[in-house]
Amino acid sequence: MDTSALHNVPRNTGWIEVVCGCMFSGKTEELIRRLRRAQIAQQKVVVFKPKIDTRYSPEHIVSHSEQFLNAKVIEDASEILKLTGDAQVVGIDEGQFFKSNIVGVCNQLADQGKRVIVAGLDQDYKGNPFEPMPQLLAIAEYITKTLAICVVCGNPADRTQRKSDQHERVVVGAKDLYEARCRYCHKPPKE
Ligand code: ZN
Repeated sequence: MDTSALHNVPRNTGWIEVVCGCMFSGKTEELIRRLRRAQIAQQKVVVFKPKIDTRYSPEHIVSHSEQFLNAKVIEDASEILKLTGDAQVVGIDEGQFFKSNIVGVCNQLADQGKRVIVAGLDQDYKGNPFEPMPQLLAIAEYITKTLAICVVCGNPADRTQRKSDQHERVVVGAKDLYEARCRYCHKPPKE
């Protein structure tokens, strides 16, 4: 099914959509677009983001192009189950910053009949799979991989180049710290 046009969706069941890609590929923009369309259709929408991501705005999800939606900031995925209430659509941004229990949480929500949309980085700055996104991709019904444009050569880019030599897996930042690169231009840091 074409996930960019989810108008012909199954009825009376939930499902999981994952939007993944590198930084600057438009993941959050795509998440916001889907959630806004659900709101326009009068569906109840709730949005979550991990506490770690406070780049732009503590209580919103914000894309690099500065679109935003109100979001609940949580520390652990288990809080999603308590805070979802009767929402029909559950959006989760920055999925890579949650622990592996987000997999069971998403399955439970979908089993309850909810549409779950998770956006996140599928690779870390070294180009390695960024858990728990691979596990979420495995259980999702619909997967969209967004590509950016390589700042070096202009090819489609699926990797995130860190411009500093910090070696922690999570260093929160935007254009000051990261840029999108293709497979050939991406230079993993030397250990
Ligand atoms: Zn390139």
